[in-house]
Amino acid sequence: MSGKMMFQQLTISSLIEHAARYHGGTEVVSVEMDGSLSRSTWREVEENARRLGSALDRLGVDDGARCGTIAWNNLRHLQIYFGVAGSGRVTHTINPRLTPEQLVYIINHAEDQVLFLDRTFLPVAAGLHDQLKTVCHYVLMGPRDEEAAAMLDGLLFYDDLLADADPGYQWPELPETTPSSLCYTSGTTGHPKGVEYTHRSTVLHTLGANQPDGLALSAKDTILPVVPMFHANAWGVPYTAAMTGAKLVLPGADLSGPALVRLIDGEKVTVSMGVPTIWLGLLEALEAAGSTAPSLTRATVGGSALPPSMIVDFRDKFGVELIHGWGMTETSPLGSLNQLLQKHLDLPPDVQAKLREGQGRPPFGVELRIVDEAGNRLPDDGETQGDLQIRGHWIVDTYFGRDQSALTEDGWFDTGDVATIDPDGYMIIRDRSKDIIKSGGEWISTVELENIAIAHPGIGNAAAIAARHRKWDERPVIIAIPVPEAAPSEAELIAFFDGKVARWQVPDKVIFVDELPIGATGKVLKNQLRDAYGEVLIEDAG
Ligand code: ADP
Repeated sequence: MSGKMMFQQLTISSLIEHAARYHGGTEVVSVEMDGSLSRSTWREVEENARRLGSALDRLGVDDGARCGTIAWNNLRHLQIYFGVAGSGRVTHTINPRLTPEQLVYIINHAEDQVLFLDRTFLPVAAGLHDQLKTVCHYVLMGPRDEEAAAMLDGLLFYDDLLADADPGYQWPELPETTPSSLCYTSGTTGHPKGVEYTHRSTVLHTLGANQPDGLALSAKDTILPVVPMFHANAWGVPYTAAMTGAKLVLPGADLSGPALVRLIDGEKVTVSMGVPTIWLGLLEALEAAGSTAPSLTRATVGGSALPPSMIVDFRDKFGVELIHGWGMTETSPLGSLNQLLQKHLDLPPDVQAKLREGQGRPPFGVELRIVDEAGNRLPDDGETQGDLQIRGHWIVDTYFGRDQSALTEDGWFDTGDVATIDPDGYMIIRDRSKDIIKSGGEWISTVELENIAIAHPGIGNAAAIAARHRKWDERPVIIAIPVPEAAPSEAELIAFFDGKVARWQVPDKVIFVDELPIGATGKVLKNQLRDAYGEVLIEDAG
């Protein structure tokens, strides 16, 4: 006769219960709307999350109902993550930087019953209120505030709801395939698409992403997630922090370099995560403040390509290790992370550094492959480029509200990225398929050109785009922000590419600008640059 092991559902409430029971006294620090710091603990977060579950029951919010949040990374948002999902509803995090039309589309499409708002976003919600058909309850994430109450009829106050709630509320037992949170892609083309995660996919992502060669967060860490909680679940960090018992520092609304330096030094942050633009700002602020960020040991960077020059700057000036990762809203989001293997440890530092520039290897739980246009598998030889596909325990199958699966016939999700994969599984993103430059039938990686331009000391930031060309179809053009007083000429910047890429890949033209258009998730909007500059080479040719 065979034996039997226990079976337990993988649930989000079990993460926060673990946090309360086994590291209940560990701090959760949060920057509040007025800029002040509040200090709580994992035990209090769990208690308030349960109170919120009870408050939602009392308001009559349906099981499985979507509850939207338009909020910064702060304490109440953290409680909502656990309270909404733990009680059997779905936490729908909404990106406040979307246009009003997109906000209306997303909230109506998700059929949100509740909308939790930080004070900053109350005017936006009040303005859209008439168009939001399904929202029954607007909840201001804070104490009672008469001025706010006057802005929106029937506005509820989070702190009042919790004060009146049942402190003895117990988490319901949910099947692990119950939906737990919902996040829309930023939808640069067409309508945003919703990805609905389950308790199971979230817990498996939490376990899978946090292996020693993954995020590697521990109870000894103090974590500062700069990546917003409305962007792919802040890369899962709220859940990982609860699981590991790390101290959590939530930065609130001010993500400027100086504000982050104050938090890092004041709270002795050991590890942080965010998109490359954030790290550019932090680098300048650290230098300006004369801080060496002594507590900070490492940071995970992804969302767009991490320029290798930034890895060197952080390592040499501050002793901070930048770890490059890749992922998407559709992948919960962690798909790969770059750490070395044992066989690399004796290699010279510059060879090791080169290996770590790419987006890295998938953790257990997901697999990556590249295919050609017909869907045939391409070799993992580190040279051949193809469409990157992914499958695994925390990857989307069907978008929210759609009938049809988003997968290929053989069950893989096509990422829209173009990549190479080497025999050890190290993946390098060459481009997004819609951004890549096709010159005379050959591909040129915009990521590679940007990394070179940004490494020039006179360049603050840069984007490479495909500009139309009569002979070659497309040729690379660099749009760059020069550093005041150090700006190179166009010819100097073009000469800087010599020897770094093949001659036919050297950009044809450089256009200097004061700023680049940045989208809702902190990425350069290359489609806008293509609209503005896509014809310059044709115009130049006359
Ligand atoms: P959106 O698709 O709206 O930009 P996501 O955050 O889901 O929102 O973006 C996922 C995409 O971001 C990936 O498909 C990839 O193109 C890009 N990306 C993420 N991380 C990296 C990285 N480390 N290097 C290059 N591109 C990245």
